Amino acid sequence: MDQTLESKLKGLMSVFLEENSKINLSAYRTEEACWIGNILDSLAFLELSFVSPPFPRLPSEAWAKEGTGEGLGVRALDLGTGGGFPLLPLAIALPEYQFTGIDATQKKIAAVNRIIERQNITNARALPGRAEDLGRDPLHREKYDIVLSRGLAKLSTLLEYCAPFAKTGGKIVLWKSLNILEELAESAPAEKELRCRLLLQHRYALPGDFGERQLLVFEKGAPIPKKYPRGVGIPSKNPLL
Ligand code: SAH
Repeated sequence: MDQTLESKLKGLMSVFLEENSKINLSAYRTEEACWIGNILDSLAFLELSFVSPPFPRLPSEAWAKEGTGEGLGVRALDLGTGGGFPLLPLAIALPEYQFTGIDATQKKIAAVNRIIERQNITNARALPGRAEDLGRDPLHREKYDIVLSRGLAKLSTLLEYCAPFAKTGGKIVLWKSLNILEELAESAPAEKELRCRLLLQHRYALPGDFGERQLLVFEKGAPIPKKYPRGVGIPSKNPLL
């Protein structure tokens, strides 16, 4: 890993662990667990071939102030970002991207914003809100080139949360364990209804006991019906099956 990148990520880890000792953001409480389980796991995204630069350098401070980012290069959304994963390591590793993180829990978003300020991560912002509400908001609907999510929900629910935010032709990248055969089979109706096609499954290995995991990459092929996402709580209680 590039030394400047590594030292920025170490800085992120130490500020994150400090926040994590005050409010519960992640079960990975030691440096080693946080480095592998949160930071390296987030960076698996960099192994996907379509992620690689060059992208134009962006006026990221202006973006952060205006908050819309329209027309300014690759826009990525992290849904259910929690304490900021994969949002924060990826914002540091990909300065050419503009990142938005969303989470339903206000106090987690407040912690992520404190970390963003302390580490001066100018290409990331974190907003409180639920996927079911913000997915209908014209400021966010169909506005993102890439939608990311780790640890949020089962696939059929997750596609209903993510698809409304993706542009047509945009990608949805989901962090998953390897044993998801049943989840994948069950998600076929949601994929069809939400115009999402599974492009690839990327397996990767983390050091030590963390083992193998995978990224699922979907492409959104067309706009989706206005009725999605359904109201708060419905995609998880009553997934499209
Ligand atoms: N992505 C982080 C956190 C995963 S925990 C990580 O991998 O470490 C799941 C997070 O999703 C929680 O922080 C929870 O508050 C949030 N969440 C759950 N349902 C949500 C919804 N419908 N909309 C937005 N956020 C939601």
